[in-house]
Amino acid sequence: MLTITGQSNSSALAVGTIRFYRHIKNIVGDAIAANPNMELTRYRSAYQTSMIQLQNLYNKTLSQLSATEADIFEMHRMLLSDNRFHHAIEIAIIEEGKTAEYAVYSVGRRLCEQFMAMDDPYLQARGADVQDIMNRLLFALSGKTESALDLISEPFILMAEDLSPSETVQMSSDKLLGFITRQGSPYSHTAILAKTMGVPALMSIDIDENWDGHLAIIDGEKHCLYIDPDDSLVQEYQLKINSDRRKRAKLQAIKDLPAVTLDGRSVRLYANINTPADLTAAIEMGAEGVGLFRSEFLYLNKNEYPDEEVQYGVYRDVLEKMSGKPIVIRTLDLGSDKRSPYLALEPEENPALGYRAVRICLNQPELFKVQLRALLRAAAHGELHIMFPMIISLQEVRAIRELLKICGDELREKGLPFGKPIVGVMIETPAAALIADDLAKEVDFFSIGTNDLAQYALALDRNNARIHTFYDPHHPAILELVRMTAEAAHRHNIPVCICGESGADLTLTKAFLSMGMDALSVAPNALLPLKETIRSISLSV
Ligand code: PEP
Ligand code: MG
Repeated sequence: MLTITGQSNSSALAVGTIRFYRHIKNIVGDAIAANPNMELTRYRSAYQTSMIQLQNLYNKTLSQLSATEADIFEMHRMLLSDNRFHHAIEIAIIEEGKTAEYAVYSVGRRLCEQFMAMDDPYLQARGADVQDIMNRLLFALSGKTESALDLISEPFILMAEDLSPSETVQMSSDKLLGFITRQGSPYSHTAILAKTMGVPALMSIDIDENWDGHLAIIDGEKHCLYIDPDDSLVQEYQLKINSDRRKRAKLQAIKDLPAVTLDGRSVRLYANINTPADLTAAIEMGAEGVGLFRSEFLYLNKNEYPDEEVQYGVYRDVLEKMSGKPIVIRTLDLGSDKRSPYLALEPEENPALGYRAVRICLNQPELFKVQLRALLRAAAHGELHIMFPMIISLQEVRAIRELLKICGDELREKGLPFGKPIVGVMIETPAAALIADDLAKEVDFFSIGTNDLAQYALALDRNNARIHTFYDPHHPAILELVRMTAEAAHRHNIPVCICGESGADLTLTKAFLSMGMDALSVAPNALLPLKETIRSISLSV
């Protein structure tokens, strides 16, 4: 048995078989084949595997979602068998003597670039589809796992060099038990996504691809990974996992009770969701609403920017599923570590300080207005709150309000019904906290993003694994910024919530309630332990 220490995002546990997720850059090897005939056979077999996978995905999506969602896989089958792709790969192997991997990669990349260079946005978006198909073929050729791990039938622990937020969100599966990665930090979006899925993520692990298929245990509390554990340890952890499950099940008893302290101070408890699929857990855990819907995940795992109708449908659905409870949708927070191929964001020296969130939205208002119109239309169906990320100035808030007004006028002209959303801002930069009094005069609520607030107040990149031990959410500077924000909100009679990860930190709950927090918004799994803590404390002692 091997014991390795890393850095965990939570105290969760997992026991299961490791599956290695390969990135394409690690798969494409030599260009010239020793035996082109063998390469052709390998390619044809990978082609068949991919066709079958796509057919299975089409069937699965059709039965679980809708024909519109399923069509993408039908289109991928067509692209895969298209002569510009399939035939060109065979030619590269037979006539140019290329290896199967190299032929797939070089033909795929060329076709992808051709699509991306086209003027028509629809055809441009096909570039990302080619990329997807190319990945699928490369994974099939590797003989290990396929890109989205859709077809693995047993529960598994996913191991990877690194995972981007968009890859992580696609992994969302009821079979996923946990993550192990070499790169990444416990404060990254990837770690937060794992928390929302309710699974441990163990990072900074010196991974070995030979562990693929081996049994492992992740102990998030001890930041430990055990490879090939002996039977007695597996049994011990299975007992712990079962006991955790029983404790969680017991907590269901307080699901519908109010979050109120022993001395009568009540607070609203909302759920953070990344995709509409997270609503099931939010409802099960008794969320009083959604305090943060990270809407950018709608854009991240798509090949093109979702249009107004698609977005409107998703937002309206979320409102309806939460049956009248308040929903806070955070507008597009792309950039930094969250990148979409169709946005074609340039590489930056300091992406966390760069072109992201409202900076992209205000610079590309036509893109932003699609989301604003969809949100205005959804607001006709319930209590919709919109909030804007990464705000640093009053000018930004005013510019956004102006765009909202223009979007309302456009909808009125088209005769499309829309509602009046409640408008707030995220306080996640020190600048916003310092001008909170001025901001409070212009908006209806504040939501404090402690993850980024800590990143910017402490000048620490939250994605950088080398410095994460310096990242201290309890730092007095951050708590002071939070306190100032709460006081400014209340001076101007607007509510304030915490939606960053610190909201679920039970050692800070009393401090936050004493500062006057009106609401806390946390991952669905964190809701009941938080409510239990609130119901057991008294602010007066
Ligand atoms: C935050 O910064 O605290 C926050 C809630 O937003 P995100 O983690 O998505 O950046
Ligand atoms: Mg943030």
